[in-house]
Amino acid sequence: MAEEIILAGGSSGLVAALFTHGIGLPHLVDAGDPRLIDDVARPVLAGEAIISLAVTEPDGGSDVAGIRTRAEREGDVYVVTGSKMYITSVTRADFFTTAVRTCGPGAGGISLPVIDRYLPGVEVNTFNLGSFEGDGEENQNQRSAWWWP
Ligand SMILES: Cc1cc2nc3c(=O)[nH]c(=O)nc-3n(C[C@H](O)[C@H](O)[C@H](O)COP(=O)(O)OP(=O)(O)OC[C@H]3O[C@@H](n4cnc5c(N)ncnc54)[C@H](O)[C@@H]3O)c2cc1C
Repeated sequence: MAEEIILAGGSSGLVAALFTHGIGLPHLVDAGDPRLIDDVARPVLAGEAIISLAVTEPDGGSDVAGIRTRAEREGDVYVVTGSKMYITSVTRADFFTTAVRTCGPGAGGISLPVIDRYLPGVEVNTFNLGSFEGDGEENQNQRSAWWWP
C-alpha cells in the first residue's frame, strides 16, 4: 500500500506517519512474548492503537550504541529515565518501542522495551523544528520529544 501511495504521487511524509507500525512492531513480534502480541501488536494491526519507534535522542541519532536513556530495575518494574527526539507520530502514539540502556556501554548494553504512552511520568512535548522554540498546539504534527523526569 505504501508503494502504491508513493507511485501515485502521494506524500512520503504521510506514508511515514501512517505506517510507523512498520518500524515499531517487528522487534516486538520477533520477541514473541504472547502478552505483548495480545496487548500491543493485535490492537495496532487492527487499527485500534498506534505505535512509534523511539530510538533517537537529543544528543544524537546515528550513534545508537551511545544511547543514554537508562532503564533500571526497581522490584518488579523497570524505571526508565531519559529523552527521545524526532519520533514520527509521537503525539498520536499509544505505545513506543524504545531503545534504552540496561547494561554496560556499547551496543551490547541496549534493550528494547515497549512503553505505554499513558504510564505515569511519560511526557510528550512538541516544538517548532524551524526555531526549536516549543509553542504547543500549532505544531502538533511536528516531530517531538518525550521523556521521563
Ligand atoms: C523526518 C524524520 C523522521 C524521523 N523519525 C524517527 C523515528 O520515528 N524514530 C527515531 O528514533 N528517530 C527518528 N528520526 C531521527 C533520525 O533517525 C535521526 O535524525 C538520525 O538517526 C540521525 O541522527 P541525528 O539527527 O541526531 O544526527 P547525528 O547523529 O547527530 O548526525 C549529524 C551528522 O553527522 C554525521 N555523522 C554522525 N556520525 C558520524 C560518523 N561516525 N562518521 C561520519 N559522519 C557522522 C551524520 O551523517 C549527519 O550528517 C527521524 C528523523 C527525521 C528527519
